[in-house]
Amino acid sequence: MTAVQADCLTAALQIGYHLLDRGASALTAVEQTIGVLEQSGLFNAGRGSHVQLDGVRRMDASIMEGQELLAGAVASIEGIVHPISAARLVMEQTSHVLLVGKPASAFARHFQLERQPRRPSGHAVRKTTMTRALAPKTLQLYRAMTSGGLVLRERAGKETVGAVALDRTGTVAAGASTGGIDLMLPGRVGDTPIIGCGVYADNVSGAVSMTGLGEGIIRIAVAKDICDRLERGMSPAMAARAVLRKLVTRIDGAAGTLVIAPDGRFAIHHVTPRMAAGWWDGKGRPVVKDRF
Ligand code: ASP
Repeated sequence: MTAVQADCLTAALQIGYHLLDRGASALTAVEQTIGVLEQSGLFNAGRGSHVQLDGVRRMDASIMEGQELLAGAVASIEGIVHPISAARLVMEQTSHVLLVGKPASAFARHFQLERQPRRPSGHAVRKTTMTRALAPKTLQLYRAMTSGGLVLRERAGKETVGAVALDRTGTVAAGASTGGIDLMLPGRVGDTPIIGCGVYADNVSGAVSMTGLGEGIIRIAVAKDICDRLERGMSPAMAARAVLRKLVTRIDGAAGTLVIAPDGRFAIHHVTPRMAAGWWDGKGRPVVKDRF
C-alpha cells in the first residue's frame, strides 16, 4: 500500500467513525466510508475502477443492514463515481435488491449521482492484440467474439473497497464496491453485488464484506457462510479463518474479509499475500496496515 493510499484509508476510517459517534446508522457510515475510497481514484472502485477488455468501466457494489435484512446492489453499472450510493438507492427507493447494466446506470442518473466517463481517459490504457499467459481462454474468447483490440490495464496495486460497521443501536452493516478483476470479458460480474457472497449483514450474527477473486467467493457463498458460523457461536476470527481455509482447500480460491459481530468483536483476515485494510474504535489513531 502506498503512503497516499494509507492516508486515504485513515481519512475514510475517521469519517466513518465520526458519523457513528454522532449517532449515524451503520449503513450511513459504511456508505460514506466507501464513498471516500470511490472518490479518491486510489483503489479499484469508483474513479479508480479497473476496465473490462473493451475498455469500459463496469462496476459492481452492494450494501446491507442487519436489522431488517434490507439490501441493495448494482452490477455492471457505468458512468458514475459512487456505485455504493446507487446500491443504497436500490435498497431504499425500490422494492428490488439488484439492478444491472445500462438500466442501473439510468437509475443512478435519475437520482443525479455524480457522473464520470464510461472509459477512463488520461490512464495508461494500452491497446494490444498480444496474447498473455494469464487467462488465455478469456482473451481468445474475447478475440473470437469481437474484431476490436483488447484494452489491458494493470491495476497497479489498486484493491476493491469495502467496509463493515456497528452503530449505537446495535445494528451492523456491510458494503463493498469494485471495478472487478484483471482480464474480464465485458459483462463479467463478480461476487461484490451478490448478497451472501460479497456482502452479508444480520444483527443476529454479524456483518461481512469480501474482497478477492469473485469466481471463487461466489461458489462458496463466503459472506453468508461466515455469518452462519458466527450465529453458531464462532468468534469473527475463527469463522473468517475457517471459511477462507475452505475456500483455499476446496477450490483454490483467494480472498480477504472484514467481519464484525454485534458485540463489537471483529476480524480482518486474508489468504492473499496482502490486504490493505484498517479499523478504528475512536481511541488513539486508526490502525491501517496491509498484512493482518
Ligand atoms: N471481488 C471482486 C470481484 O471479483 C474483485 C476484488 O475484490 O478484487 O469482482
